[in-house]
Amino acid sequence: MIPVTRMATGRGTVSSRLKGLHGKRPSGFSSLLKPVVFWNITRACNLKCIHCYISAGPQPDPNELSTYEALRVASEIVEAGLPLVTLTGGEPLVRSDLWAIARRIALSGDIRLAISTNGTLISRGTASRLRKTGFSYVGISLDSTRPEVHDAFRGMAGAFSRALRGARNALEAGLDVGFRITITRYNLEDAPRIVRLAREMGVPRVAIYLIDLLGRAGENLLPSREELRATVDRILDEAISASDTTEVLIVRGNFAGIYLADKLAKTREEFLELLSLLGSHGDCGRRSISIYPDGTVRPCQFLEGVIVGDLRRESLETILSPSNPRLKPFLEIGSMLSGSRCGKCPFKGVCGGGSRMRALRVYGDFWGDDPLCFIDPWEIASRWGL
Ligand code: SF4
Ligand code: SF4
Repeated sequence: MIPVTRMATGRGTVSSRLKGLHGKRPSGFSSLLKPVVFWNITRACNLKCIHCYISAGPQPDPNELSTYEALRVASEIVEAGLPLVTLTGGEPLVRSDLWAIARRIALSGDIRLAISTNGTLISRGTASRLRKTGFSYVGISLDSTRPEVHDAFRGMAGAFSRALRGARNALEAGLDVGFRITITRYNLEDAPRIVRLAREMGVPRVAIYLIDLLGRAGENLLPSREELRATVDRILDEAISASDTTEVLIVRGNFAGIYLADKLAKTREEFLELLSLLGSHGDCGRRSISIYPDGTVRPCQFLEGVIVGDLRRESLETILSPSNPRLKPFLEIGSMLSGSRCGKCPFKGVCGGGSRMRALRVYGDFWGDDPLCFIDPWEIASRWGL
């Protein structure tokens, strides 16, 4: 995760509240043994997005955790003392026992609770209930500032206006709100526009995800490397303009953070300090994990078919153990990467090789190169004497 605003200006909004600060850094917060959790509590959703990474549909999976099982998992999370749980889906608000699950986590008092939603179901009453239940952050997906483009991505006329209404209701209820955009070749210009929209609406956070290739998201959605580099430049400019109200992050491509560190640093020390901000955020299987609707555990939400544990059969503690052989490759990612670029890259420890699903889908090699990486890491390393 790349804290663009913090890298460019030293400021943050929601990340400071959610995670606290350690000097300039919003972490120390999660660790390999205490990762942040993204819990996909259901695959059911009222929308049908073309890029949905979990291939959500109108019905839940028949194999989803029951309420009883989900509450047991919530108790395990509390016992493990994990720092932050984001309930997501599918659309988490269509699962009627969401509130009981959330209460079980919130009652611990120590765990920050967030929800990632398409925003269409957040009425005033729901926003107030989210606040009272103990949620502190609501992330709402937006694919564009143009209603017709967002609605086309989402497969529902009116989804854009309902998402914005949901965001306003959540803000009015006193919740921290963030927009989340997944950028594809069809909405690159929307990323800086959404930062502007967030600023106008008083939304304090925008997370910009680079499209990952799983679920319904196919290769046809990938932008070119040059298009992506130009978009990252525009995001940086917009993030600096909005930094008094809104923080901006880029997710699923730490190579873009290395690019920004190279662009922003004046000295070698500054470059290394900026790189260290990248390392302080959760990444796939390293400081973050994902629980799927059926109780299986993945290193993150962005891997298909990679299961590191099953909460129906094993404890969370066992799954999170660094000696778990299924988790180990992700904890030791630097030694696993084998592509001609990522495998030899001087920044592979910081970057983690970008996305494994992009490598798999485009080059057919799970441990190969990320096709979106637009930097020349050797040139950057030699510029800073590394
Ligand atoms: S991307 Fe989100 S809102 Fe869209 S179908 Fe998938 S779960 Fe639903
Ligand atoms: S070559 Fe691979 S490891 Fe290096 S910056 Fe690019 S994606 Fe990351």
